[in-house]
Amino acid sequence: MSNAISLHPSVDNGIAPASKTFAGGTLVCKCKDDPVTVAVAGQTAHNHVCGCTKCWKPKGALFSVVAVVGRDKVKVTKGKKKIKVVDENAVIKRHACAKCGTHMYGRIDKKSHPFYGLDFVHTELSPEKGWSPPEFAAFVSSIIESGFDPKKMSGVRERLRAIGLEPYDCLSPPLMDAIATHVAAAAKKRKKKKK
Ligand SMILES: [Zn+2]
Ligand SMILES: [Zn+2]
Repeated sequence: MSNAISLHPSVDNGIAPASKTFAGGTLVCKCKDDPVTVAVAGQTAHNHVCGCTKCWKPKGALFSVVAVVGRDKVKVTKGKKKIKVVDENAVIKRHACAKCGTHMYGRIDKKSHPFYGLDFVHTELSPEKGWSPPEFAAFVSSIIESGFDPKKMSGVRERLRAIGLEPYDCLSPPLMDAIATHVAAAAKKRKKKKK
């Protein structure tokens, strides 16, 4: 086990199951003094490990672990002034603590986006146990963009499969289907308008 590839601290030693009665928790940034806190009033969905270069990862982790929750469930409870948007031009506006750099939540403002209404959160920032566990691995090939050796990718995919996280180089098929369904419905709507 000692030479197993380290993916992320919250999956390397086994994935904790969700609690059926889980009602949410509080995300806390990494600042020792006056941390930013964000209350999440409910269970998350579609939790997954992500290899993209945009998601926040803890120090040394190859992947992030990120889930979604309704934006109405997310509320900054402390340190609002410290929060800055990492990239105003990104589709997902990642709201981070300006001091420690931890991403507190990612929000989509574009109403036509398939995931509009959902915020992206890293539940590892909460001390509460029972969050929905990661179910798959997204954007696996993208870790190469962060400097990972392409020759070692098969080992990464093997390790992901071994812990039950099917590796994909985009999102999982159900999420890709959801996006395509949304795009198709929007196209149909546009056509109707033209007529
Ligand atoms: Zn901080
Ligand atoms: Zn990502």
